[in-house]
Amino acid sequence: MVEKKMNGYSKETNCILAGWTPGQGESRQVPIVQSTTFKYDTSDAMGRLFDLEASGYFYTRLQNPTNDHVAAKLTELEGGFAGMLTSSGQAANFFAVFNICENGDHFIASSSIYGGTYNLFGVTMKKMGIEVTFVDNEITEEELDKVFRPNTKCVFGETITNPTVNIFDIEKFAKVAHKHGVPLIMDNTFATPINCNPFKFGCDIVTHSTTKYLDGHSVCVGGAIIDSGNFDWMAHAEKFPGLCTPDESYHGITYATKFGKGAYITKATAQLMRDFGAIQSPQHAFYLNVSIESLALRMKRHCESALKIAQFLEKHEKVAWINYPGLESDKNYPLARKYCPNGTCGVMAFGIKGGRDASIRFMDNLKLVFIDTHVADAKSGVLHPASHTHRQLTDEQLREAGINPDLIRFSVGLEDPDEIIEDLKQALEKA
Ligand SMILES: *Cc1c(COP(=O)(O)O)cnc(C)c1O
Repeated sequence: MVEKKMNGYSKETNCILAGWTPGQGESRQVPIVQSTTFKYDTSDAMGRLFDLEASGYFYTRLQNPTNDHVAAKLTELEGGFAGMLTSSGQAANFFAVFNICENGDHFIASSSIYGGTYNLFGVTMKKMGIEVTFVDNEITEEELDKVFRPNTKCVFGETITNPTVNIFDIEKFAKVAHKHGVPLIMDNTFATPINCNPFKFGCDIVTHSTTKYLDGHSVCVGGAIIDSGNFDWMAHAEKFPGLCTPDESYHGITYATKFGKGAYITKATAQLMRDFGAIQSPQHAFYLNVSIESLALRMKRHCESALKIAQFLEKHEKVAWINYPGLESDKNYPLARKYCPNGTCGVMAFGIKGGRDASIRFMDNLKLVFIDTHVADAKSGVLHPASHTHRQLTDEQLREAGINPDLIRFSVGLEDPDEIIEDLKQALEKA
């Protein structure tokens, strides 16, 4: 676990500076500590680490300095208290929920979330005895109130939803979660810490698939969890025995009393990472850090290009509909202004007149824009969930999942936006 004090710099500066401050003669760039193990002079010094009585490195499955520098940068960018890296976004979301939910518990998640997360929560975690209730993002506070049970342990949502590109009303969900004494966990992958800091609106814990914009160059799969340190576990001790009662696997330590604001990340590292081992490799953390150095610049360009392209698509006669919360005509525009005033992201969803077949003809005729399952990257890409990620579903099942059969998810990259528009134009003509 890494704790980072706010240093007062802007996000643009912190994309470069945060997390690693070299001393005299030390490497300017974050060093890759390519070692599984760390050396100690006395048996007692090492023993104290195993008891969590002293902090330090002993085995890279638990902690590695490279990863910690990068986690500290992300923690700074999110305005959090402590953070950790994971091997993937899937591992981050699993750890984030499993750290406070056990067999017999229940949690609430928005139904507008990434397909992999939907499956993790609805199918795999169910097999572990953890039940989820999916709710619509448009649910009222009164309706949401009724979904809570005595064993509900958290609420989960995505700042900007993948693939439908809607904005989650953070304050609404945080208010009801806190009324019931549980934290709000949010996957902030699409907005990135540059365009939204969910902690400012009452969210307690943030996760990322760093595979997307944070990496941004389709190089490494990775994830991160950042805790605001704001949730008072001891005030709801009966709900969170894992944090508020002694951990037998660490000689009876109680995380919430021993580590205070660092309790949640310490437990996720000391218990979940120890036992599941879903670590990011130091090499990958190094690549991630290099990418984050340009994150603020890249997000600005992604958003400017996406807006220009969305405005083009909105007016095009062959386009049936478009979801891009940066468009003034979008139903999510007011929420986007509130939560992402500097821009949302480069991803949009749209449909083409003529339905599923026209969408496929359009995609097959693209030249500069590639068909790929990736998203939120320097390279523009399209995906047709009905023929790709969700191809096992009928049109009716797709609609139930909130996905139109003609929906194309379009991720605007960093290429010249006018050249992207030219490509879309010629492919639309052939659709
Ligand atoms: C891709 C994605 C994930 C899963 O992340 P991986 O790094 O692929 O495991 C989770 N949430 C969102 C919003 C995503 O886009």
